[in-house]
Amino acid sequence: MSTVFESFQKMKYPVSFGLLTRNVIKADRCCLCGTCVASCSLQAIDIVNGVPKLVGPCYACGSCYSGCPQTVEALTNRKEMELAIFGRTRNEDESSGIFKASYAARTKIGTIKDKCQDGGVVTTLLFAAFEEGLIDSAIVSAMSDKEPWKPIPKIATTPDEIVNAAGTKYAASPNISLLGQAHWGRSLNGIAVVGVPCQVYGVRRMQFFPGAATRYAEKVKYVIGLFCMENYPYEKLFLKYIKEEKGLNLAEITKFDIKKGKFLAYKGKELVLEVPVSETKDYTLGSCHTCPDLTAEFADISVGSIGSPAGWSTVLVRTDKGEELLNAAIKKDYLEIKDLKDVEPGIKLVHKLSKAKAKQIEKLKT
Ligand SMILES: Cc1cc2nc3c(=O)[nH]c(=O)nc-3n(C[C@H](O)[C@H](O)[C@H](O)COP(=O)(O)OP(=O)(O)OC[C@H]3O[C@@H](n4cnc5c(N)ncnc54)[C@H](O)[C@@H]3O)c2cc1C
Ligand code: SF4
Ligand code: SF4
Ligand code: SF4
Repeated sequence: MSTVFESFQKMKYPVSFGLLTRNVIKADRCCLCGTCVASCSLQAIDIVNGVPKLVGPCYACGSCYSGCPQTVEALTNRKEMELAIFGRTRNEDESSGIFKASYAARTKIGTIKDKCQDGGVVTTLLFAAFEEGLIDSAIVSAMSDKEPWKPIPKIATTPDEIVNAAGTKYAASPNISLLGQAHWGRSLNGIAVVGVPCQVYGVRRMQFFPGAATRYAEKVKYVIGLFCMENYPYEKLFLKYIKEEKGLNLAEITKFDIKKGKFLAYKGKELVLEVPVSETKDYTLGSCHTCPDLTAEFADISVGSIGSPAGWSTVLVRTDKGEELLNAAIKKDYLEIKDLKDVEPGIKLVHKLSKAKAKQIEKLKT
């Protein structure tokens, strides 16, 4: 496998947390995925006040740097990862990455319908996988009890915990940091990880990149990717913009959404905020300005709303494992499912927006 990664052959050791700080964190390219935290065998990295910090000794092993999805090396050598996962690189017409089937789907489970963001497919896949004994845990983003809409990475080990984490929280959630805990502290064996594209890339680097902490990702069985156009630090979007500037009480909001270029907030059925998403641009994570991946191109299965009608999810099945997950939900009769070809706007829109997002990489300062 290591022969695929020419960029690894070019790495000059020793590589320390200092290099990650200089090249990624101080360069405002950290997406807060948490991969570096999970990667350190000395557990010397923690997220402190929303930033990865060294809290112990560093012996310059380079694992955190190798796992990070936001180094220039990682961002400019994505083809290596494609080759490692799919055994080939994409063709010209595969603007949203390699996938073997595409669907529009929505859940049939009432409790998931009540909580989910779009078609409830992500939660339904996890729910079915749990019931079928394919997984014993899922890394998801739950919501803080104390700070409304603050995502809290969580290892869910029951169907209730999986369902409770449904719904999108539009803030960075260092989900991948929990792979450290999963390795050191718990006897988990089949983990499904849910994450936005950069988090998916972090997990894949941990699994495949030779210099990364591959042993800490051994228990990851499935990677479910979410489409993602942009994300925000919690403090900037929720505390500064929504609470301070827009005067909304976060505890009263029942759903946030981004649809058709609008950022929306609902109190029950009442729409209480509708602004162009461009108005939130100054509050996004720095990493999102150069991010080339809309559809989580390295996931086993990717899920988003773009391409499908309201209340449905677009589903891109990329690997055999992704197919296994979807089949588990179909076998339980938990999903309504259509070929993506049979819905509008379908894959055309997904490809169009993927192409536009891929161009963002041209802004990367190398
Ligand atoms: C920051 C962000 C930006 C997104 N932008 C787009 C977009 O531009 N276009 C688009 O089509 N779709 C986007 N999505 C995906 C979309 O919001 C839904 O998550 C997706 O359509 C799946 O819907 P669902 O009903 O199947 O998910 P659900 O069944 O509701 O499950 C959602 C899952 O997402 C997890 N989750 C929630 N918040 C986060 C978070 N902050 N980080 C990681 N995991 C989280 C939950 O733990 C849960 O497991 C975005 C998601 C996020 C988190
Ligand atoms: S992973 Fe290695 S390089 Fe990174 S902080 Fe830990 S010891 Fe240092
Ligand atoms: S992008 Fe992820 S791995 Fe890189 S520094 Fe930030 S949290 Fe760590
Ligand atoms: S836009 Fe890219 S970098 Fe930003 S949160 Fe989404 S996947 Fe991560």
